[in-house]
Amino acid sequence: MTALRDDPVTALGAWPRLRKDPASLVPRPHLADYEATRQGFSWEAARSGLSGLPGGGLNIAHEAVHRHASGPRAERTALRWIGKDGSRREFSYAQLSTEARRFASALRGLGVGAGERVFLLLGRIPELYVAMLGALSAEAVVSPLFSAFGPEPIATRIGMGRGAVLVTTPELYRRKVEGIRASLPSLRHVILVERAGEAEPVAGTVRWAELVPGASPDFALPPTDPEALALLHFTSGTTGRPKGAMHVHGAVLTHYVTGLYALDLHEDDIFWCTADPGWVTGTSYGVIAPLVHGVTNLVVEAEFDAQTWYGILASEKVTVWYTAPTAIRMMMKLGVEAVRGYDLSHLRFMASVGEPLNPEGVLFGVEAFGRPFHDNWWQTETGGIMIANFAAMDVKPGSMGRPLPGIEAAIVRREPDGTVAVIEEPMVEGELALKRGWPSMFRGYLGEEERYRKCFAGEWYLTGDLAKRDEEGYFWFVGRADDVIKSAGHLIGPFEVESALMEHPAVAEAAAIGKPDPIVGEVVKAFVALKPGFAASEELRRELLGHARKRLGPAVAPKEIDFRDTLPRTRSGKIMRRLLKARELGLPEGDLSTLESDERPAAGAAP
Ligand code: ATP
Ligand code: MG
Repeated sequence: MTALRDDPVTALGAWPRLRKDPASLVPRPHLADYEATRQGFSWEAARSGLSGLPGGGLNIAHEAVHRHASGPRAERTALRWIGKDGSRREFSYAQLSTEARRFASALRGLGVGAGERVFLLLGRIPELYVAMLGALSAEAVVSPLFSAFGPEPIATRIGMGRGAVLVTTPELYRRKVEGIRASLPSLRHVILVERAGEAEPVAGTVRWAELVPGASPDFALPPTDPEALALLHFTSGTTGRPKGAMHVHGAVLTHYVTGLYALDLHEDDIFWCTADPGWVTGTSYGVIAPLVHGVTNLVVEAEFDAQTWYGILASEKVTVWYTAPTAIRMMMKLGVEAVRGYDLSHLRFMASVGEPLNPEGVLFGVEAFGRPFHDNWWQTETGGIMIANFAAMDVKPGSMGRPLPGIEAAIVRREPDGTVAVIEEPMVEGELALKRGWPSMFRGYLGEEERYRKCFAGEWYLTGDLAKRDEEGYFWFVGRADDVIKSAGHLIGPFEVESALMEHPAVAEAAAIGKPDPIVGEVVKAFVALKPGFAASEELRRELLGHARKRLGPAVAPKEIDFRDTLPRTRSGKIMRRLLKARELGLPEGDLSTLESDERPAAGAAP
């Protein structure tokens, strides 16, 4: 794109700002004037966008489906499902509500009460959505698991969560659960969702087909306390053993407000969140937020494939698309040409979450789709989007945007006495903190009370991420506290190093770690995966080292670069720097339950 300013210190901030003219945007964004909306915002007032249960209380499933089922959106498509084989199923709000109520009745019939844990181990199939909304209707606590988990992570999570019910498929059950079932005394019921033609009874399980379709659709929701537990979500395990974050029904207010402001959902939208519900994004935004807004929620069963995705964006006329840097980087690998030929004129807003989005990724959006990817930041613990690039606001590539109205974010320094001091000065690195009390704030880490307490200092929730805030109030991600590299008195954020490497045409992905060094403490080492058509060589290594030195300056640039075919990644798509580091230093690898793809040395790479 446009030439870069040759300023190594602010390499990230040097990208040209993408200007927005709110007046020209159609439809008018819900958040057209950031300052005014922020000032006038209160969570109490925002509550008027929700209905509440007729008999009092607040239940996620009621806000997401049941209220629409008896309103003007009853016949609108709530869920549009596209199977791996191209088959399709659609559920209107009325139908989805009926199915969810049947599942709730079925749970009651099994003697499953409020507060009991229902685990879901399913691919992205319609029954997953029915079960989730049904269990929430019955005030059971839902814990979605990623269907690619092996037996060990499944056993650990169900064990920790004292799961009473598991909904899965015969195939997953046989392969992953049967062998661990005896170690899970809390698990009273296993419900199997069969595919057509699959009707072999499996000992110790009940068939969905026999349980749910015949259950009563007249299930009356209990008057759910907004503080009642609703969801148990395990973190990605990027920095260590996954934690079980507990969320309440009242979180739905954040889902509503973020759907409105951060995703800018409008009545007629076709929304597609590409995340799996096994991760919090796939639940908060793959299920709850779009349904609360009454839009059509597209669910695609197949895994990532760029051409398939472009085809779906075009044929389904997707208007709002929420995806992740890992997918964006894979699309970038194929280049903008691969997008040509698809009619993507319906696409209005594109957002990204999960990892820092390199400026290259933001601008790839502009080149390939005619609009930037809007990065936003949040965590399993926050339950919903907290910092975002909003539709009407200028985008500064590399920045994660500004806090949601109702969210107070600050950069803080931890003091030795356990308190924190807010850093007012712009562009000074510190820990990102949020003022506690937003509706979807997690209410605990399962079984780890002390760890939960340690996340707070006074009125602040400490996120464990390092960031900076600029004069205009935009936040810039530096790195996870655990990943930050300390070199010769500098704190180096891996994100900046990786973004600089990604500017090089040969680089598809990069990860930077700190490697102990007797003189400067740590030196930066980077691992790089190349785009198709580029081969690892000594010459390219030298070229990349030189490029990084020019962009970042000698103090920050990597001293070593290794080539890899792939970088190790969690199943939610995050690069596992801790694993690269452990392997580099010959240290124990730690919890690998969420590891998806493993690193492979690049063919032809020097050792
Ligand atoms: P664990 O806590 O188990 O190590 P995790 O932190 O990766 O795993 P998640 O809750 O899924 O688990 O991820 C949240 C984290 O992802 C954030 O704390 C942040 O480090 C990173 N992240 C998410 N979105 C962004 C973003 N837009 N920019 C930078 N980092 C992001
Ligand atoms: Mg985390």
